Amino acid sequence: MQPRIIVHGGAWTIPAERQQAHIDGVRAAVKTAWPMLAEGADALDAVQAAINLMEIDPTFDAGRGAVLNADGQIELDAAIMDGRTLNYGGVAGVRHFMTPVDIARKVLETEFCLLIAEGAERFARECGLPEVDPRELLTERELELYKELISRKGYCTHDAFKPVPQGTVGAVAMDVNGNIVAATSTGGTPCKKPGRVGDSPLCGAGTYADNETGGASATGFGEGIIRTLMTRSACDYLRDNGANDAARLAIELLHRRVNGHAGLIMLNNKGEYGIFHNTDHMAYAYAHADGTVHASVHMNE
Ligand code: ASP
Repeated sequence: MQPRIIVHGGAWTIPAERQQAHIDGVRAAVKTAWPMLAEGADALDAVQAAINLMEIDPTFDAGRGAVLNADGQIELDAAIMDGRTLNYGGVAGVRHFMTPVDIARKVLETEFCLLIAEGAERFARECGLPEVDPRELLTERELELYKELISRKGYCTHDAFKPVPQGTVGAVAMDVNGNIVAATSTGGTPCKKPGRVGDSPLCGAGTYADNETGGASATGFGEGIIRTLMTRSACDYLRDNGANDAARLAIELLHRRVNGHAGLIMLNNKGEYGIFHNTDHMAYAYAHADGTVHASVHMNE
């Protein structure tokens, strides 16, 4: 099989001066992961490497650069799913690790699916994953945004869907054996309630993969994505539709049922990419069959 990889770097209103950093970040993720796949790496390893790169990049709302919650703290969520076995690993409310998808990958290798907060961190330490001071995750940009939002009277996290730049990251890949893996990593929504868990680490909400259909990673209005099980719905749509149509149908479902805004990247088991968003912008990149990379911030008219 020809390997495939598609990644996203969030779907919100990305200000003009920040678009190039998003394009560079998603391109770098594909450029790292595609050669791994071409050399025969497992899709789990390639997807993890792509996500790691974007978690470390302060451009995105994942790992370093994540948004702050209403208490001024960073709480990270991430997940990874293996379409061959349906094994799933998710973590939520992680505060002391820069690359939470690495913890999710370790969870995937256990009998459990989802670990949260202190339990997830204790498990990460047991696995020997490197801990960081939460201040290493903090950027001046997000501190400023936090101060601004917290001072807005009656601010609600859903207000963030228009003016506030975001950048959850996600990746979906197929390796030379035809195995499909999806993963997502995020700091969630700005000023979220402490302890709030978004869609990203929840199976079938923000992240889903099944070799029988395909894989998907979502970004956007987490509460709506959870209620419509958007990535699982999108993969179900693949049974009767091409990848782009399946992505569109899932976003239409979100909009119709819960008035939600989001973006979705997908890959079906024939190797077709699907991309759709009903937000202003979405940053994404994918590899063509020869390994050349297309990276852009797509804008809805
Ligand atoms: N979906 C994420 C969440 O609600 C946020 C995002 O994608 O930007 O946690």
